[in-house]
Amino acid sequence: MQHTCSICGTDYDFVWKEGTPLPKNFPFCSARCKAADLAKWLNEEYTISRPLPSIILSDTERELLVELGIDLDDEGS
Ligand SMILES: [Zn+2]
Repeated sequence: MQHTCSICGTDYDFVWKEGTPLPKNFPFCSARCKAADLAKWLNEEYTISRPLPSIILSDTERELLVELGIDLDDEGS
């Protein structure tokens, strides 16, 4: 089926079979868009609250955020 990425607006084919885990990057078209959304959300969090508590991120998500120039490891190190 088709799905529209809410980050970049790309229509992409979304392949999923009932009973299997959702695609890793759902609801975004790619890991990059997923990370971009996460980064956006994190930035908003930064502006309204104190430094982040330890958000649970997968290694992949951390790597993507680092790639996007967001350093999550300032706290306490
Ligand atoms: Zn996208």
